[in-house]
Amino acid sequence: GFNCGIVGLPNVGKSTLFNALTETAAAEAANYPFCTIEPNVGRVAVPDPRLDKIAAIASSQKIIPTQLEFVDIAGLVRGASKGEGMGNEFLGNIRSVDAIVHVLRCFDGEVTHVDGSVDPVRDAETVETELLIADLESVEKQITSNAKRAKGGDKEAKAKLEVLNIVVEVLQEGKPARTADISSDQRAIYNQLQLLTAKPVLYVANVEEENAATGNDYSKQVEEMAAASGGVSVIISAAIEAEVASLSDPEEKSEFLADLGLEETGLKRIIAAGYGLLGLLTFFTVGPKEARAWTVVEGSTAPNAAGAIHTDFERGFIRAETIAYDDYIECNGEQGAKDAGKMRAEGKEYIAKDGDIFHFRFNV
Ligand code: GDP
Repeated sequence: GFNCGIVGLPNVGKSTLFNALTETAAAEAANYPFCTIEPNVGRVAVPDPRLDKIAAIASSQKIIPTQLEFVDIAGLVRGASKGEGMGNEFLGNIRSVDAIVHVLRCFDGEVTHVDGSVDPVRDAETVETELLIADLESVEKQITSNAKRAKGGDKEAKAKLEVLNIVVEVLQEGKPARTADISSDQRAIYNQLQLLTAKPVLYVANVEEENAATGNDYSKQVEEMAAASGGVSVIISAAIEAEVASLSDPEEKSEFLADLGLEETGLKRIIAAGYGLLGLLTFFTVGPKEARAWTVVEGSTAPNAAGAIHTDFERGFIRAETIAYDDYIECNGEQGAKDAGKMRAEGKEYIAKDGDIFHFRFNV
């Protein structure tokens, strides 16, 4: 599965958001730093109205949405890269996620701030500086070791050194590794470096209830900062999301949201942004037993998609009987699509498209 690590300074609303996201009370929100010590992991169903439509047409007994994983990563303080606070553990946890959801405090109020005042841009820099220092140290170490081996004629070390030199220049300018100009040939080496500042970042401006629909001056600063670095930001109120999560009646939920001037939950917007950030797409499988949504990265082939279901499906892949979502709806299901000649037999080279409905044929 794909996972997003929720990071940010203490007391910005990470746990509140995580709880809302996962609709559990696993991580306890409290008004002091370090209240969430272990990384908490939660899975979120990705809402997709297309899945419900497909299931209705096929009269599927069960509907199984695709999932995105969120990890609440606590313990960042200034000096984390030097091992302060939960520094090393924190950085290790970030290394293992696909993307970063960076929560920034954009609400005033009584809650203690570790640096004494509310300033989301400063906070973002504090966190990012720690990640940058950790990357810089790791890259500099690797430059030393690979330079020695490259001198001795090691070709692999030489190729790695080239990538490291590109990255170190960017980091020394104080810019994240993801802004480095890496050629497609160098991608594999670059990815192996597992740099913290190489991960895509979604900024979450956590505002107070009354600003949830419109944002506020703080969230505007966050938007500007994100735009300047080609990043993505979302405005939410974690406190509201927590309340919405506690309402079980869908009608009550939408009424509550409408009263606050909101059309959908912040969770939906975060999931949508997370999907875009990670470059993910959804495909479907459907039958009388179940209609199910699956997630793969954009650019995946039909066998890759089959592999998301089971590795055997990928290994023994023969072909994918494929119907585009719009055709499936227009033809009122599989039989209609078949009759209309809208069901295609796609081979190993086919690149999966968002909304594809697949029927995989494979050898066992
Ligand atoms: P963490 O340390 O980043 O995980 O922060 P928490 O989620 O524990 O939240 C810290 C404090 O901020 C708690 O007292 C929350 O109730 C409060 N808080 C979180 N989100 C909001 C919000 O949107 N508005 C307001 N006013 N308070 C919030």
